Amino acid sequence: MKYQIFSLHNFRNIPQIALLPEEEQFNIEVVGHVLPFKTNNYVINELIDWSDYHNDPMFILNFPQKGMLQPEDFAHMERLIKSGADKITIKKEANKIRQKLNPHPAGQLEYNVPELNGVRLTGVQHKYKETILFFPSQGQTCHAYCTFCFRWPQFTGMDELKFAMNQIEYVIEYLRQHSEVTDILFTGGDPMVMKAKIFDVYITKLLEADLPNLQNIRIGSKSLSFWPYRYLTDDDADEMLAVFRKVVNSGKSLAFMAHFNHYRELHTEAVQEAIRRIRATGAQIRTQSPILRNINAEPEIWSTMWKEQVKLGLIPYYMFIARDTGAQEYFGVPLAEAWEIFQKAYINVSGIARTVRGPSMSCTPGKVRIIGTTEIRGEKAFVLEFIQGRNNDWVCRPFFAKYDEEALWMTDLQPAFGNENFFFEEDLSGILLK
Ligand SMILES: *Cc1c(COP(=O)(O)O)cnc(C)c1O
Ligand code: SF4
Repeated sequence: MKYQIFSLHNFRNIPQIALLPEEEQFNIEVVGHVLPFKTNNYVINELIDWSDYHNDPMFILNFPQKGMLQPEDFAHMERLIKSGADKITIKKEANKIRQKLNPHPAGQLEYNVPELNGVRLTGVQHKYKETILFFPSQGQTCHAYCTFCFRWPQFTGMDELKFAMNQIEYVIEYLRQHSEVTDILFTGGDPMVMKAKIFDVYITKLLEADLPNLQNIRIGSKSLSFWPYRYLTDDDADEMLAVFRKVVNSGKSLAFMAHFNHYRELHTEAVQEAIRRIRATGAQIRTQSPILRNINAEPEIWSTMWKEQVKLGLIPYYMFIARDTGAQEYFGVPLAEAWEIFQKAYINVSGIARTVRGPSMSCTPGKVRIIGTTEIRGEKAFVLEFIQGRNNDWVCRPFFAKYDEEALWMTDLQPAFGNENFFFEEDLSGILLK
């Protein structure tokens, strides 16, 4: 299958789009000027249900929707475009709107960049003891863009890809100096947009470095949903699978962290065949997704998705809370509701699918999971715990926040039972100052 990209400048050529009322085509254009927009022929022809596109989760996942901007911001962009404003003005105004959308949540840029011999490694993040994230420079785009993307600033030209780095040698040296690190997670964008030849260089160097501490090589990717032909018909499909095999044969584990937001993404022949081929290399596939209003905020969607994943040999791993960035008002699900959805879905699957953890917020102090709600001496509270923490010692210790039906994120929460601070706050300030 030949890969065809569509974005803001040519999306009106998509036959299914050309049939939509002009106003709807225009709405896509208006919002697509602010939020990242890119799709492809697989998504259009095999994923989206055009007979019901208004409600179709795959359409909403890929095509900008009017409700994703605040009404005044939408009206502002609409006026500019209709009045024939020049490109520079439109871009400047779009950037002003983007600045209001919390482009860099959870201090990703400031706090997580490690140093090697006094030099900042800008293509790496090291937040939790065992795992480093690596942003290879050739993997900083995706086969299509999710409208909810939390890394959207790098796709809209706001960030000059400050992350991206291709100096694998420095990463290897860092791994040598940090024997506590067992996992490297290739991320992006989507590292699977990389040519197999380039990925092979990274992997071969990592394996040849013979790092005893390195156990798990992980790849975070949405390619199974957005372009499964990556593993079927692309020129270097077999070559990519051979690189996976190389990792497995070296005795390290290869964990493919697949992003699936809805069971519909599991239904095409192409994705099922791609899954079979990846699993045949000995790689494990684990799955994760945020919970998203208008896409998957229903228990049946999750329980069905987890069951179907298990049937295909995938391991459910994380349910995330949608991050406090971009179109969060459109996608956001309050923590209380997210927990209810999680619980209802979880009790509908067998233990084999209960490997999933969540709902979890990736926030400044760590990954915080909502265990549930409780009432103690008349005060209602959320029970929370760290799944990952900037300080590992915080992990697994239940703590409490005042119940708040509307809270969407950690920063909306207050300590419960008369406490002024959460137990980790003083420690956290110390860590962040370092
Ligand atoms: C989620 C995450 C990881 C990986 O955490 P696991 O629980 O091991 O999957 C690593 N680094 C960062 C910054 C993360 O957000
Ligand atoms: S696959 Fe990930 S990085 Fe790419 S657009 Fe979707 S959320 Fe963003």
